[in-house]
Amino acid sequence: MTNTYELIIRNARLAGSGGRLDLGIRDGRFAAIGQLAAAEAEAVIDAEGMLLLPPFTEPHVHLDTTLTAGNPVWNESGTLAEGISIWTARKAALTKEDVIARAERTIRMYIGYGVLHLRSMVDIGDPKLTALEAVLELKERYREQIDIQVTAFPQDGIVSCPDNEQRMEEALRMGADGVSAVPHLERTREDGVLSLQKAFRLAQRQQAYVHVFCDETDDEASRFLEVCASLAIETGLLSRVTAAHANAAAYYNEPYFQKIVGLVKQSGLSIVACPLINSVMQGRYDAYPKGRGITRIKEFVRTGVNVALAHDDIRTPFYPLGTGNPLDAAHMAAHLAHMSGRSELQELIGMITAGGAAAMNLGNAYGFSGGAFVEGAPASFLLFDAEDAGDLIRNRPSPRYVVRSGRVIAETLPAVTKIVGG
Ligand SMILES: [Zn+2]
Repeated sequence: MTNTYELIIRNARLAGSGGRLDLGIRDGRFAAIGQLAAAEAEAVIDAEGMLLLPPFTEPHVHLDTTLTAGNPVWNESGTLAEGISIWTARKAALTKEDVIARAERTIRMYIGYGVLHLRSMVDIGDPKLTALEAVLELKERYREQIDIQVTAFPQDGIVSCPDNEQRMEEALRMGADGVSAVPHLERTREDGVLSLQKAFRLAQRQQAYVHVFCDETDDEASRFLEVCASLAIETGLLSRVTAAHANAAAYYNEPYFQKIVGLVKQSGLSIVACPLINSVMQGRYDAYPKGRGITRIKEFVRTGVNVALAHDDIRTPFYPLGTGNPLDAAHMAAHLAHMSGRSELQELIGMITAGGAAAMNLGNAYGFSGGAFVEGAPASFLLFDAEDAGDLIRNRPSPRYVVRSGRVIAETLPAVTKIVGG
C-alpha cells in the first residue's frame, strides 16, 4: 500500500468542528483523511488553516430565465404580475443560442462560488422545448465541473395547460431528471390537487423526482404542502419529493401547522426555501404588519424535516438582484428566519451543503455525510479564507479554492483594499 498521493491538502480546518485535517487524494477520491504529515504527494496545497467545507448546492434556480432583467424592459413595480407580463414577451423571443449564452455565464458564476450540484427549473411551455434543449446541452458540456439536474417545469400549469403534461413526458425522454407542478396557480383547489396527482404519477412511472412550486403565496388557505406529503407517501417517492417555497406555511394557524409539520416529517420530503426572491415578492399585499416572505424554516428543522436554501432567480423580470452565491441565500435566511444564533448560523451553512445534497438525493456521490468527508468518495470540497460559519455568512466570499474530484476547478484571489492617506 503506497502512501503517495496525487494531491494533499494540509492544515485545513473543518467548518463546524474546527479540527485540523489533511486530505490525501488519489484517483480523484479521498484516499485518506486525518493527519498525513509523513505522506508524500505529487502536489501539495498548504491550506494554512483555511476553512474546509463540502461543495455548495443550489436546489432551485431557473437557468432559462437567468440574466434577462431589463430585457426588453425593467419590472418597475416589482410585482409578480408585471414580472409575468414581461417574461411572457421575453419568452416568445427565446432562441437556443440566447439561452445557452445566459445559462452558461450563470453556471460559471455558480462554479466560482463553489456550487458543484445544481437543480435547474426549465419552463416547458414552449412546444419546441428550445430552452430545455439548451440546458440539457450545457448539462453535458459541464459534466466534469458540475452536476446539473434538469426539472421540467410547467409554468402555466398542468390542468390549466393540458399540453404541459405530455411535454413533461417528452422532456423526461429527452433527458430531464424530474418534473414539477404549480398547484396554487391552477384555476381551483381541485385542479391544483389533480395537477399534483398527474406530476407524481408521471414521476413514479418514469423514476423521476418531483420538485413542486408549493404554496408560493401569502394565502393561508393554500394547503398543497399536505397534498405533496400525502402523495409522497402514497407513491413511495418519499425523499425524491421537494416542496419549494412553501410560504403559505407562515400564515397557517398553529394547530394546522402542527399537523402538517408531522405529516411532512413522515413523508420524507424536503423543503426548499428561496429567501431572496420571496422576501421581495411575498407580503406585498398584506396590511401592516407585513409577512416576511419565508417559510417556517426553524420549526421544520427542529422537527427533523430536511430544509435546503436556494437562490432561485438571478437577474430576471421577477428579481433584479441575485449573484448565484449560496451564502447570499443563507444571509437573507439568517434575517428572515431569525437564525442569528452561533449554532444557527452553522445550521444555515448545513442548508446550502448537506441539506441541499439530501434534497437533491445525491447520496454517496456527495462525499460528505454526518458532518464528515467520506473516504473513497469523490474528493470535492471548498476552502475559504474565513473564521467560521458566521464569518462566511457575514462576508459571503468566493471560495479560495473549488476542488472537484481532486482537481482545482476554480480559484479566487482575495480582494485587497488599501486605505490611502490618513
Ligand atoms: Zn423559482
